[in-house]
Amino acid sequence: MIQYNENELMAYFEKAAEFSSTKRGVTRLYCSQEHKNFIPVLKKWMQEAGLQTKIDAIGNVIGFKPGKKSNKKLIIGSHQDTVIEGGKYDGILGVLLPLYILQKYHEHGVEFDYGIELVAFGDEEGVRFPETLLGSKALCGNVDKTALQVVDKDGISLKEALTFIGANPDDLAACKRKQSDIIGYFEVHIEQGPILEQKNLPVGVVTAITGIQRHRVFIQGQANHAGTTPMDMRKDALLAAAQIITFANAIFTKTDNLVGVVGELNVQPNAVNVIPDRVDLTIEIRSPSPEIRHKAAKEIEAFCQSLATKQNLEIQSSKNYEMNGAICDKDLQKQLEEAIQENQITPFSLFSGAGHDGLAIQALSPISMLFLRCEAGISHHFKEEIKPDDAIIAAKVIDSFLRNLQYDSTQKNRHLASQQTAPV
Ligand SMILES: [Zn+2]
Repeated sequence: MIQYNENELMAYFEKAAEFSSTKRGVTRLYCSQEHKNFIPVLKKWMQEAGLQTKIDAIGNVIGFKPGKKSNKKLIIGSHQDTVIEGGKYDGILGVLLPLYILQKYHEHGVEFDYGIELVAFGDEEGVRFPETLLGSKALCGNVDKTALQVVDKDGISLKEALTFIGANPDDLAACKRKQSDIIGYFEVHIEQGPILEQKNLPVGVVTAITGIQRHRVFIQGQANHAGTTPMDMRKDALLAAAQIITFANAIFTKTDNLVGVVGELNVQPNAVNVIPDRVDLTIEIRSPSPEIRHKAAKEIEAFCQSLATKQNLEIQSSKNYEMNGAICDKDLQKQLEEAIQENQITPFSLFSGAGHDGLAIQALSPISMLFLRCEAGISHHFKEEIKPDDAIIAAKVIDSFLRNLQYDSTQKNRHLASQQTAPV
């Protein structure tokens, strides 16, 4: 039985956090000087874990360990990039925690029939360039050559930036993997929310990564004198907005696997003594299930129309954005649950309200994710923290998952099943 050591593991995170352009938190943007400086360190660590290393055209750092019996491989990965003044664990946890396990395997001569590819995706956050998930999209052949021409705020193109860190952007097409070579995708990530802490659990199995849709609502009332207009003769657009917000919030609160927010409000004329005649507001709805999102949107729309009739206002709403989520592979979820049980922890499942690389990778293979508890649910912030004990538990769970991994050698049906967007 391999012994995983807290200090050995946490030392990786401390060292990685030194590659930051800010003193507070970690700022390691895609293709930055810090990214460039971190690459040789990451490669050295991967080599110490017995992996063959390379950097691909989109700046992903890849470590590969061939299987004993099969050419098929499990892709394990997460992103190396951070937000500005982000934490020490968002993204890089999913690279360094598996890397530590692979280093232990190397030390103890543990090998599997299947191959393992560990990927540190260059870009997931999309902070520097007007693109997101570039690293994972490239593996699916979903980064077009035209994307290389996008520029950052200083006018540096993605192509120039990639060349700067030592990648060869002309080789973009070579990033694409063959579906038939891939068993699946696994990522461990901090939860970035408070649920595991509330449940007093170190880890949880992710059922799905959320889909998002956004709506705009326009409310037209009638401006009038706030002193002379009787209360029962007003067409107050802001009052209607308040009722819509309350109604939407009630829907979000009572529905499982659904969250939402009215985050933006524009009020006209926005004056102390005038009845508001115009309010524009946004409604963002998140759920991994499109059916759940659409049902909520329909209920809110029906409420808006009944309100318009009742209060003699005009209310129009329209959807202006929708991105479908990704369902995690049911079979891999089950295997993760078994790995958790094997380590005497109660299995618990939850969906991810934040986006992750799996959103892109679902086009290539079945995906799976494990969440690690983080302190007070804080993330995208320099105060992001995890408990070393929890990280060791996650290491043991991942170890069990990798040792027991069952995979279908054909994969065809599994992949199709994982593409379905059924409710979770
Ligand atoms: Zn992340």
